[in-house]
Amino acid sequence: MAHQTFWKPEKKAKEKKLSSFGRNKKEKKPVPEWKKDILSHHQSRPGSKERGDFPKEVIAELIEESNGICECCKIVEATTTHHVYPRGRKGRGVKTNGLRLCWPCHDRIQTNEELLQFWISAFRDKYGDRFWFDEQDWNEYHQKQEAQRKVDQEKQSRQESLNPVKELISSAAGRSLKAKEVHLLEMMDAKQIAVFEALINDIVRIEEKHQVPFGYGHFDD
Ligand SMILES: [Zn+2]
Ligand SMILES: [Zn+2]
Repeated sequence: MAHQTFWKPEKKAKEKKLSSFGRNKKEKKPVPEWKKDILSHHQSRPGSKERGDFPKEVIAELIEESNGICECCKIVEATTTHHVYPRGRKGRGVKTNGLRLCWPCHDRIQTNEELLQFWISAFRDKYGDRFWFDEQDWNEYHQKQEAQRKVDQEKQSRQESLNPVKELISSAAGRSLKAKEVHLLEMMDAKQIAVFEALINDIVRIEEKHQVPFGYGHFDD
């Protein structure tokens, strides 16, 4: 996928913000202190667009830490904030995903996949994998991990619960089970397994009764 965002002169970006409708304009209205707390509980999750924006405080911190100088050429003043992991690939407007650049450097990075990847790997080394995640991304990521862990655990305990009946059938048959036989067991629920297991147990018991002990008859002949 090609890099989708392009740098804009900061002045123009600001003008656009002021003239746009919706969220940004609403935020300009002063909210009384008493109302802020109530509103914070009713705020819906920010959308993809907002999550890609670098908040002013984040930009201010980035400028301070880079002394206002372009972090690529380290010569001229930085005038833009680059998403190291592109917005178009869900890179968020978080501090660990921000790089202060001058226009020419920003333009070069945006249009050169190799350079883009260079900075991605540099940031990965610096901040760890998924450095472009915001809080919501991390929450979702951990929820998914947890769900996957549960699925794996259930699968494993299901497999373990089948072990006794597998061993029983395998020893009754005198051979290891074939894949399609294991699959058949896996399709049964716990109740069906119990019925099946009881049946096999009865068969094994009758077999044992009828079995002539080894060596019987040899000494009498
Ligand atoms: Zn530069
Ligand atoms: Zn950029």
